[in-house]
Amino acid sequence: MTATTLKAITFDLDDTLWDNHGVMERTEAGHYAWLDAALAEWLEHSSGIPPERFAERFPLAAYQERRLALARRHPERRSDFTWLREHALASLLRDYALPEHDAAHWAGLGMQRFLELRHDVTPHPEVEAMLEALALRYRLASITNGNVDIARLGWQHHFPIAIAAGELCTPKPDPRPFLAALSRLQTQPAETLHVGDSWQEDALPAWRLGMPVAWIASADTGLPAGIHRLSHIRELPELLAWLDRR
Ligand SMILES: [Mg+2]
Repeated sequence: MTATTLKAITFDLDDTLWDNHGVMERTEAGHYAWLDAALAEWLEHSSGIPPERFAERFPLAAYQERRLALARRHPERRSDFTWLREHALASLLRDYALPEHDAAHWAGLGMQRFLELRHDVTPHPEVEAMLEALALRYRLASITNGNVDIARLGWQHHFPIAIAAGELCTPKPDPRPFLAALSRLQTQPAETLHVGDSWQEDALPAWRLGMPVAWIASADTGLPAGIHRLSHIRELPELLAWLDRR
């Protein structure tokens, strides 16, 4: 087999470059509790009467249901999680009897808090030095379905090309975010390694386009040629060295 020299690497972000599980739990509960407390204080201050708390009337589960209902009504926005959250919050706040204007205002504040917490991520300790070293040799891009903003992390220098597939409304496994990255990288699929943790959203769609894949997973059961399993992102340089030697 003739090996093609790699020219570029595309990276998934969540659960590839950092462990996102704790981040989402903290962010989900944290911004809702913040909104509940800040709103109670504002209402009590403006009316003098302690209100029925927002989160008592609409517990976190009601917020999650409202997002699902919105996603069903607006299938074209189902992957735009920021939009879904803000609209679900505004709709619950209107049901909580806030006037339209106040509901929109508080939903916006809740989302500001959400995005602050959402970007409080801790990349695996090896990642930054690794990206700096890789950038000397490869063109790098990020492709995420999530709502992490590379600029907000201060990571534009690592990923001058950052594809936010959720906001494009064509999330992975749709091939379009991968094609957008390839077009901006100006590389062919076979010259571009995709690194990600999801079989459905990273490994399969990239492999189907002809991209080699580093799939981060705890176990594999017989992978097709072209998909290489890593148990952690820290093993990537070793894989690249091995691909080089072929
Ligand atoms: Mg991921």
